[in-house]
Amino acid sequence: MVGSGINPVKAPVVRRGSLTSLPAAVAQRPAWRFLILAEIANFAAVRRYLGCARSDLLVADVSSRLSQAAPDVRLTVVGRTTLELAFEGADAGELDQTLDLLRGACEEQFVLDGEIYALEICFGAAAGPAAHLDEVRLVEEAEAALAEARAAHMPVRHDVAGFDARESRSLARELKLAIAEDQLFLAYQPKIHVRRQEIGSAEALVRWQHPSRGLILPGDFIGVAEDGGLIDQLTIWTIERAIKDQRRLLAAGHDLRIFINISGQLLGDQAFVDAACHMVAEADAKLGFEVTETSVIRDPASAIANLQRFADIGIVIAIDDYGAGLSSLAYLKQLPARELKIDKLFVTQLTSSNRDPLIVRSTIDLAHALEMEVVAEGVETHAALALLTVMGCDMVQGFLISRPISLEALTTFLDEDRHHFVSQDSRATFNTLATAWKRG
Ligand code: C2E
Ligand code: CA
Ligand code: CA
Repeated sequence: MVGSGINPVKAPVVRRGSLTSLPAAVAQRPAWRFLILAEIANFAAVRRYLGCARSDLLVADVSSRLSQAAPDVRLTVVGRTTLELAFEGADAGELDQTLDLLRGACEEQFVLDGEIYALEICFGAAAGPAAHLDEVRLVEEAEAALAEARAAHMPVRHDVAGFDARESRSLARELKLAIAEDQLFLAYQPKIHVRRQEIGSAEALVRWQHPSRGLILPGDFIGVAEDGGLIDQLTIWTIERAIKDQRRLLAAGHDLRIFINISGQLLGDQAFVDAACHMVAEADAKLGFEVTETSVIRDPASAIANLQRFADIGIVIAIDDYGAGLSSLAYLKQLPARELKIDKLFVTQLTSSNRDPLIVRSTIDLAHALEMEVVAEGVETHAALALLTVMGCDMVQGFLISRPISLEALTTFLDEDRHHFVSQDSRATFNTLATAWKRG
């Protein structure tokens, strides 16, 4: 179909926004998360010419070329004409390099049954700092970049910057006041125990109701608190509030363990560890601490000793974001952890990628061999829940069950046993998937 009016692929133009620097605390994790949306812009014309089934062969051809050009990227076909490519990297420039490779791979014409097709493939891309990245925002930026790429006929990149350096400094000053004036609050996200069909714990996630900026999510201020030496005060505030909220939950008839996120730098801070142990022991609170593996790698001896102190007073240790950073079996074995949380990156892709189910399944087996329970975070669909259940995952957490909600909303959620509706809806999906997965 030479000369069908379908334009060839154009040269890329990369647009950069300002970038925030990474806090030292996360320097060892992949620093950047990238998302590329590739769309066949002239697909409608091609399909009119070829029909549905045969034009889908061209989409499959594009998909295989892109995955050959960038084999480490997780590729998913979303919708009829769009491919989603997700990956991580140490350097922001890796996105441009991958975009070049992908564009290069599409330069050669596509051939179907001896006829040549010039597909116009648009690339919209987004990059964001991996630590505390707001995933929804990454997707929104990639979609916005794709819309621009469509109009401009060239690849467009957006960088998710969060607050810039000047704003971060002023946020740090305001955060000190916010902690003192109770502008922070906790949202709770329940975890369901799959076999027991019950909610035994919830994760506390901090939010900042800023008087003039509105609601600020932790992705935009935890790094600021870590860099500005405020993370200890913030976390002490969080533990105090969680202890109070736990008492209110208990009074309403709900006995839940509350998990709190602990930044890596606090595991080497003796004053913080002493204060936290004192508060928890005195209140006889039923808490858990979520820590990432990388927070241990920085100073293993003192981090492991402090985690052991927490465990000794009954705090359950959970390894957060497993798989997202440098995973080291050597450390994993030494940690007094009872739970392993598989990073939501793997879970959200579970039913759409070939690689992730294997990673998740082997992680579950590994954790069980180490006598840990496994939590899958980021469970958004019934299909993912069903697959995780078949794989033997112990607990699940994610938007499918509940978004992070206020203490009042959590109480109502528990009063009404709402999680049962989720599991009932999943049963049909479960039966289909269980059969398919067991077959092979
Ligand atoms: P995290 O510990 O990995 O927390 C889970 C994040 O994923 C939360 O974002 C939650 O809203 C989001 N999430 C939950 N379910 C789903 C799902 O099904 N799909 C998707 N796409 N996302 C889901 P949030 O609340 O914005 O928190 C971001 C990060 O901020 C947390 O990641 C944690 O690392 C950090 N953080 C939150 N609270 C605290 C805190 O009190 N102290 C410290 N040091 N860090 C905190
Ligand atoms: Ca967490
Ligand atoms: Ca996590």
